[in-house]
Amino acid sequence: MPDHSRRGHGRLDRRDTPDSDMTTSRVVVAGAGTAGHNVATTLRESGFTGPISLIGDEPYLPYHRPPLSKDFLLGTVTAEALGLRSPTFYTDHAVATHLGAAVMQINRDDRCVVLDDDRSIDYDHLILALGASPRPLDIPGRQLNGVLELRTRSDAERLRGHLTEGARVVIVGGGFIGLEVAAAARKSGAEVTVVETNPTLMTRALSSRAAAHLAALHTTHGVRICCSTSVTALEGSAGRVVAVTTAQGEHLAADVVVLGIGVVPNVGPASAAGLRVSNGIVVDEYLATSDPAIFAVGDCANFPGPADTRIRLESIQNAVDQARYVTRRMQGHREPYDAVPYFWSDQYGTKIQIAGYAKTSDETVIRGTSEKFSIFRFYRGSLVAVESIDDPLTHLLVRRIFGVGGSVTPDQAADVSVDLRSVARTVAVR
Ligand code: ADP
Repeated sequence: MPDHSRRGHGRLDRRDTPDSDMTTSRVVVAGAGTAGHNVATTLRESGFTGPISLIGDEPYLPYHRPPLSKDFLLGTVTAEALGLRSPTFYTDHAVATHLGAAVMQINRDDRCVVLDDDRSIDYDHLILALGASPRPLDIPGRQLNGVLELRTRSDAERLRGHLTEGARVVIVGGGFIGLEVAAAARKSGAEVTVVETNPTLMTRALSSRAAAHLAALHTTHGVRICCSTSVTALEGSAGRVVAVTTAQGEHLAADVVVLGIGVVPNVGPASAAGLRVSNGIVVDEYLATSDPAIFAVGDCANFPGPADTRIRLESIQNAVDQARYVTRRMQGHREPYDAVPYFWSDQYGTKIQIAGYAKTSDETVIRGTSEKFSIFRFYRGSLVAVESIDDPLTHLLVRRIFGVGGSVTPDQAADVSVDLRSVARTVAVR
């Protein structure tokens, strides 16, 4: 990833008439997270005048999720400031919101969805933006008080009260969520231990070089990192968690345990309706499911990558870009989906940005100083991703280069006299 060679080579598809009659179409968006919100708002703001229903199982209007593991957890961002749009936006723009309501069933024959309060809403186009849920950890003690996870605003509000001076916080999982919570907990004066099964942190997203830099950053800030360690049980007293037991037989005292071991895509109503599901709701290069009236976007969508691979991404960029794409597709856009993925995290004020997507790499080149640098990751000679640590300019230029279908060779990456700006310009004018 990404396969930039696909850019600009849109093919006509068997389903090349998704806009059958978009002006009278009824659009239902299932899921009111970042992806669902962006489908509804972009569609309306693009001039679509038909009915739009936005259904979300949380009781809140759509909100920004990234601050939940950062400033919102620290109390420096209020709940009001989390809102993606003002509370009146949806009524002002005739987007019918159904909050605290879960889609239980998709009736494809009658083209309607049934909610958990038995209401039924008809659609001509259904967009599934169902998101993902925290991966459950099936070990003894999981139900004890003080064992928390972090996905929603309510989760963050619950966790916030536990991050206090001297509190012993054990975080299970050294990925995006685990490490962001670790940084916030340290800022609050808590004692923090991160337990990670893999030998390195953030294995899903980062090269071992970047992971080592992050591990050092957390250690410097007083976090105890235990890699290659699995948690076998959570111990309790009077119904509250008091310790974590590891496979090595260690007992880590804990006032609160945060489970951050990844997420699983929400596919229940899709698979019950007979749509193809495999690590997410399977969509084609136009983000359509096996039913042409139904699209899937964001964390729940499994879409085609390069060379017959399939990918599912959990990021704001992916949610926003896929949402915007689907609104264009419904209105007749013919090119396949082909956005450049990027991700970011912020820990102790250090910015970690990733452009592209690498499952693996066989060559890395580091460009920059020991404090501000980028790691260029190559696979079989092709640049697949660049990880930037406090190096936002390189991140931006690489996104620009990827965005115009360009690349950088290992020699160019290693040579600081090669100006990436001019590489971006050269590719753009080609
Ligand atoms: P998220 O974005 O939710 O943090 P990630 O996939 O980035 O999800 O990170 C989850 C991390 O949790 C991974 O590094 C994974 O290796 C780790 N992990 C998964 N299961 C366990 C477990 N049982 N104990 C400790 N760590 C785990």
